[in-house]
Amino acid sequence: MSVIATARKTASTPASDENDVRARRLAMQFSASPAHDILRHAIQEEFPGKIALVSSFGAESAALLHLVAEIDPATPVIFLDTEKHFAQTLSYRKKLAKQLGLTNIRDIHPDKEAVAEKDPDGDLWKRDADACCTLRKVVPLTGALDGFDAWITGRKQFHGGGRVNLPAFEASGDHIKVNPLIRWTADDVQHYAAAHDLPPHPLVEQGYPSIGCWPCTHPAAADDDIRAGRWRGAAKTECGIHMSAV
Ligand code: SF4
Repeated sequence: MSVIATARKTASTPASDENDVRARRLAMQFSASPAHDILRHAIQEEFPGKIALVSSFGAESAALLHLVAEIDPATPVIFLDTEKHFAQTLSYRKKLAKQLGLTNIRDIHPDKEAVAEKDPDGDLWKRDADACCTLRKVVPLTGALDGFDAWITGRKQFHGGGRVNLPAFEASGDHIKVNPLIRWTADDVQHYAAAHDLPPHPLVEQGYPSIGCWPCTHPAAADDDIRAGRWRGAAKTECGIHMSAV
């Protein structure tokens, strides 16, 4: 499928009724379940061989990667290498993969020809951040998820915005998104990391509580919303992979 066709599909594919019913059933069934139970069911019973974790290897990623590795270290992990990540994120991705024994990490890059056409100078993020996220995240993710029925996200209700009412399972286009950490707090993430000796992303100690691409990520004050440093000063709060029906 061409990049343009993929983008059109991404922007316009609603969840099927069947997918919607399945997601609602699962969300009700696991509405009070701990993260490990949700993940174990999703990976081993509901979507065996048809589920991937999508991870940014950001500030909160280690806990979910560890949970998944404990269940099955060969679970596919999709890392969207937008080619705009901090160098620290790329080294953290390698370090965590090794420590956790993850054996199936897939580094997904944007299409070279599409980047040459739409972002030849590399600063599309300044002119049109939504178009940049579509080019570097949404379209590559759509291709990477081909053949999967479900994908796992690390979103949490305490992040606020459109995440406050997230269910554990939700229909999204041809896929079901699994959100095992919806009820976790920032303290839960820290306690889990400490209990399992998980290394922090190196930028956390420099004041970055949420980490994405370098042009769109800034430090945040301790009393700021956790995602306040993302697209600071813009109305944008999500990168697009959670706004499209991927
Ligand atoms: S987060 Fe910023 S640099 Fe990264 S893809 Fe989106 S707009 Fe582009």
